[in-house]
Amino acid sequence: MRIEVVTIGDELLLGFTIDTNAAHLARQLAAVGVEIIRRTTCGDTAESIAAAVGEALERADGVITTGGLGPTSDDLTKPAIAALFGRGMTLDEEHLAWMRDRWATRWPERPMPEANVQQAMVPEGARKLENRHGSAPGIFLEDARGRWVAMLPGVPREMRGMLGDTLLPLIRERLGDVDRVVRSTTLRTTGVAESLVADRIETIEGGVGDVSLAYLPNVDGVDLRLTVRDLPPREADARLAAAAERVRGVMGAAIYGEGEDDLAAVVLEACRARGLMLAVAESCTGGMLGARLTAIPGSSDVVCGGVIAYADAVKRSLLDVPEALLLAHGAVSEPVVRAMATGARARLDVGAALAITGVAGPGGGTAAKPVGAVWIALDLEGRVEARALRLWGDRDEVRRRSAQAALELLRRALSPGGNS
Ligand code: ATP
Ligand code: MG
Repeated sequence: MRIEVVTIGDELLLGFTIDTNAAHLARQLAAVGVEIIRRTTCGDTAESIAAAVGEALERADGVITTGGLGPTSDDLTKPAIAALFGRGMTLDEEHLAWMRDRWATRWPERPMPEANVQQAMVPEGARKLENRHGSAPGIFLEDARGRWVAMLPGVPREMRGMLGDTLLPLIRERLGDVDRVVRSTTLRTTGVAESLVADRIETIEGGVGDVSLAYLPNVDGVDLRLTVRDLPPREADARLAAAAERVRGVMGAAIYGEGEDDLAAVVLEACRARGLMLAVAESCTGGMLGARLTAIPGSSDVVCGGVIAYADAVKRSLLDVPEALLLAHGAVSEPVVRAMATGARARLDVGAALAITGVAGPGGGTAAKPVGAVWIALDLEGRVEARALRLWGDRDEVRRRSAQAALELLRRALSPGGNS
């Protein structure tokens, strides 16, 4: 099955909105064995929508559009595509009644705006795709030759919901038994530079076979994506698993997770397993580490709290960092970061505390302590461990890399394999 994607919206062309819908569609369809053969983005006019979808239909068996299903005047997707198929628009009474009902339960004191009625207009002969996450239905329209267009909403959350709930099952049904698929898996590493990761991968005897391997460096570390194409599903899974095993063999403890795994969640789980409560003491990251941890649902049984000790006075008064240490070594130093971790652990009365202090930039660097010079420390039940980091990137990147490195320090300390 050959599918094209057309994402609709002036804001996409202008670059104000990043086209995450097209990327999500590509990933989800690849997983069921369908490859997107082309992606197009067009503006909000009826002419450009009809042109983009019409051209795509000349090449593909099916076209998926996102955007322009809403109630406003720039939402022209349905009539433009209906016209392309030579169909008129009709009012779907059932959907209108459902919308009025939904409105009445939410805002009983106000009548539903008439503009919303447009959302209940559907092309003649169309099939509706249920929207459990919003009010505009998706539309599935098919011509006499079996070529089809599926119209999904632009709002990413609604688009993803509708794709998973209704469109993917529909596509699977039309595919019947798929004999060839694209499958991938991502192994997440941190704390090892990309070139060092590559050196280790080189040592795999026989490589990873015909599985393709992509290095994806980002502020959290280097993700390794393994992909197999054009294989029967079982064989694809088996080859992928074998390749992942080989990579794990050489990367060892540097791999902290798979897919979308967040290091903060991995660390919380490790603390939870040991019944360990955690506190943070942050200078240059200003709460970023605490934010990473508390963004994970259920973090409250591990995270106790923390101190944003930005000024030296706060390091002294709330973390009991001795003034003499600050004077002798400066705030960005090993003795101070150790004292911050120990102070946080004692003051918050927990088993583990992480501390961060550094020069995030862009100003404030010196020859001895340049931008990106960061100290991190862990006080784990009285044993203190500190690390010097030399980070790169802009202020935001230095701060994010610092938080990630602090999490990694704790993960390594808690993992049975230790530091291999
Ligand atoms: P609405 O009912 O909200 O008008 P819609 O189906 O008409 O929804 P649009 O108006 O095209 O969709 O887009 C709504 C919002 O969804 C946009 O403001 C934008 O933030 C987001 N959006 C639209 N298209 C995309 C896309 N391709 N990728 C990511 N976000 C998108
Ligand atoms: Mg809209």
